[in-house]
Amino acid sequence: MTTFKDLGLSDKTLNALEKKGFETPTPIQELTIPLLLEGTKDVIGKAQTGTGKTACFALPIIENISAKNKEVQAIILAPTRELALQVSKEIESLQGDRKLHVLAIYGGASMRDQINALKRGVQIVVGTPGRVMDLMKRGRLDLSYVSYAVLDEADEMLNMGFVDDIKEILSKTSRDKHTLFFSATMPKEILKIAKTFMNDYEIVSVKSTNETTNLTKQMYYNIKPKDRMEALHRIIDITDEFHGIVFCKTRLMVDEVTHKLISSNYEAAALHGDISQGQREKILGSFRRKKVKVLVATDVAARGIDVNDLTHVINFSLPQSPESYVHRIGRTGRAGKEGIAITFLIPSEKRKLRFIERIVKQELPKGTLPTIQEVLELKKKALKAKLNTILDDEHTKKYDDIAAALLKDHTPEKAVAALLKYIFKSEIEPSKYHDVAKVSGKRERGFERGRGGKSQHDRGGRSRSGRQVGRKGGRSSRERRAESRSHLQRDFKPRKRVGRSEGGSRDRKKPSRFAQDSDSRRSKKGSSKEKRKDKHRVSQGKSRRKRF
Ligand code: AMP
Repeated sequence: MTTFKDLGLSDKTLNALEKKGFETPTPIQELTIPLLLEGTKDVIGKAQTGTGKTACFALPIIENISAKNKEVQAIILAPTRELALQVSKEIESLQGDRKLHVLAIYGGASMRDQINALKRGVQIVVGTPGRVMDLMKRGRLDLSYVSYAVLDEADEMLNMGFVDDIKEILSKTSRDKHTLFFSATMPKEILKIAKTFMNDYEIVSVKSTNETTNLTKQMYYNIKPKDRMEALHRIIDITDEFHGIVFCKTRLMVDEVTHKLISSNYEAAALHGDISQGQREKILGSFRRKKVKVLVATDVAARGIDVNDLTHVINFSLPQSPESYVHRIGRTGRAGKEGIAITFLIPSEKRKLRFIERIVKQELPKGTLPTIQEVLELKKKALKAKLNTILDDEHTKKYDDIAAALLKDHTPEKAVAALLKYIFKSEIEPSKYHDVAKVSGKRERGFERGRGGKSQHDRGGRSRSGRQVGRKGGRSSRERRAESRSHLQRDFKPRKRVGRSEGGSRDRKKPSRFAQDSDSRRSKKGSSKEKRKDKHRVSQGKSRRKRF
């Protein structure tokens, strides 16, 4: 078995690795670290999150740069602030007792603080391309002395439309440097950039990193848009300790789904680009500690989140690209535990699913949503199991006198049943659920414009608990309809449009294979000019859909 020592790392680094609890290198580390320590070649590593890719570039950088030199010696570009933060923390913890200064820079955080830190001297910068560009343009970040330039999750950065920023940043770095790309997939554009910016390079990949998916049971449910909330309730309810992410396409959808879950007493939280950095970290902390059981998120917001050991990933909406699909479901089925990835497939998106299947080279089995009866039976079973553990608990003694009194006046069955009703309230009432429609072969529109009668869930109105749901931030129903229309239209938007991303002042995006990630854009409402544009987009979208 190869050890970290075999890879040629120094004792200082070996100590840090021991402290961190890394015992043996992961396959991608085994291959890339010696190459990078040798330093004769640039490297493209084909690796997903979870493979140990960060240490692949972090360890050689840490070994080869100097704390005495106050210039920026390594620049690592990452698609999101979460990933930038995660990578910078990982580097901090891997450097041991060296005195290297690592700084994460990203949009949405104070530019002044970042400038001040840079002034004090930083050796390793980990940043999102938008903010890195801003600081370079302001003359606050000088990359002309870097010995390492790394693109982390390069494919995601390209998907997000950072290609021009990346090229510009790389062109401003010193010629005499090592360039490293890490990417889960290898689109042509990455190789094109490599040809322009890399010296002699080697592509390193380990056999499919998708052990994760082996342990992930994947399936899809054919479902009408209006029944997706019901399906989600049933899935959560039949799972013993549900801990999962529900992926939605847009911020609006994330808010609606979260609101409905909370109204029905689920421990849910939303994560999307309108949520402040501080709030986001709190939410993630609660999710990690399992205080929040259901995290409803957009792809962009969920990127780089280091919570992988989940029971479920639910694709409430289909992802924007096959790559996102792989990324999403890779968050479950880890550490030897089986996970479940369920995709809600609305009739209008069947072709997209086929496309994903072709790219991921797997046919997804069709699952069947548990019936109300099945859900209730399973819940009763779970309740019985819970009660049995309480019965084994000696601390029930303090209730003995009430129990005796009850049993004096009632039969044991009646007494226990009354208690169950008191404790579990409407948990196992059939009325907690509603019937779902059979899906016909006919195509129909999405969640946002559910033709043929939206349910109360999708329209907004009274939730089961009687609270008003679905009205967000004082929007009128007309505004909401307009925004919903734009969600649908965005699906098939032409490629050229550029939008702003979450938080980063210049964190640009462009459409991925399916479409531009709608999470990154503000909805367009109102003006007739915009409506004309939208019409145009839809007609372009139709022809795009045909090609799909
Ligand atoms: P990454 O793919 O870099 O995001 O790493 C995924 C997780 O694996 C992180 O929590 C790392 O700290 C951890 N990790 C990376 N390399 C190793 C290793 N050789 N042994 C144990 N854990 C590791």
